[in-house]
Formats: sequence, structure tokens, C-alpha cells
Amino acid sequence: MKNNLKIIKILSLVIALVFAAIAGRDFYEHRHFMEPVVPSPSLTEVKKLSDYEPSLKGTANDSNVYVFDSGVPGGTAFLFGGTHAEEPATNLTAALVAENVKVEQGRLFVILRANRSASTCTRMGEAYPAFYHVKTSWGDKRFRMGDRCTNPLDSWPDPEVYLHYPSRQMLAYMDIRNLNRTWPGRPNGAITERTTWAMTQLIRREKVDMAVDLHEAELEYPVENTIVTH
Ligand SMILES: [Zn+2]
Repeated sequence: MKNNLKIIKILSLVIALVFAAIAGRDFYEHRHFMEPVVPSPSLTEVKKLSDYEPSLKGTANDSNVYVFDSGVPGGTAFLFGGTHAEEPATNLTAALVAENVKVEQGRLFVILRANRSASTCTRMGEAYPAFYHVKTSWGDKRFRMGDRCTNPLDSWPDPEVYLHYPSRQMLAYMDIRNLNRTWPGRPNGAITERTTWAMTQLIRREKVDMAVDLHEAELEYPVENTIVTH
């Protein structure tokens, strides 16, 4: 009887370890998958967010900044997707622009994934797919499905209450990892605050006339054809 119990315990442990190994391999593949980008011939330079906030160097949020400079004087626009990585239309729209844009006047800055870290995990317990695929004439293109907030692997621990800087408004704990709640950011804050700080510096330094932050209705939250005002 005692021996049987021991065998059951060992077997349970082995089964749990097998499941952990399968899940671990999936998590690892999802986090380290690199999404290929083929920018349009209008591309003149690829910068990094760490060019605007050096502490982001080597982190998950050191996103590429694609610069399309027409060489003709004009305005400067900044378009970014992936504030919320569980809103796939946003990074897909930014990718579509980066791959097809033809700039005739002024400059355009594009970031495909503003919060790249959030794209390296999915919502815990909600059975999001890890990847989604878009059919093209040259085969399936694979994209990462992400979460609303920065991956806890890159930003931990959360505070009990997130005190927004500089307004001091009190927000929910996980909003310190929500890129839509950390503007204008600060250079000595958590990684999400430093990411918005980098983009604020980009807007200031590059004299951006118009910035567009792409969003869409997330799953189970149908804000379609809706205007959300302050
Ligand atoms: Zn959003």
C-alpha cells in the first residue's frame, strides 16, 4: 500500500514535468520568435527606441523605428502599432504601411510594436492563440498574438497601486505595464514608462507634427465603430 502511494506520487510528478516541458517549449518559441519585415523602398534608416532612451538597449522594448525620409521638406508624421499587443489590427496596419508606403514629401516614422514585450506573452488563463497567420501569394505569414500589458518577465513586481507620473492619478496595479497608461513616461521608471518616454523624446527631437497610436476592439470588449473620449 505504502509502495503504491509512492509510485503514484512519482508518476504524478513525471506527468506534471512532461506538461511543464511541453508548455515551456511553446512559451520559449513564442517569446523568441522574430517577425520578418520587408520595408518599402522608401526606407532611409532604421533607428532604435534606445536611440531616444538608452536604458532600453538590449531590452525586449528596444523596438525598430523605421524612417521614411522623402528628402523633400514637409511635415513629420509618426505612426505606431502594438500599444496593445492583443489588438492585432494595430501592428498589422503599421506593417502594411511600412512595407508599402511611398513618401513624396516630409518624413514618416513607423514602429510596428510599440510595446514589443507585451507581444511576447498572451493573456494568462484566457486561451489566446500564440500565433496567427495571414495567407499571402507567397505563403502564410506568421505573427505573434500578444497581451495588453508588458510581459511580467520584463517588468516585475507590480506596485499595489500604480501612481501615474506626473499626474499622480491612482490606477490599477497592472496599468504600470499598460503602455496606454504610461504617457508621457519618465527615464527612471519601469520599462513601460521608459518606452513611452523614448517615444515622447522621438516626438520632441524629430519635431513630429502628427502622431497616430493605433488601437482596435480587443476580444470580448467590442468597442467597434466607437469614439472613446477623455
Ligand atoms: Zn488598445
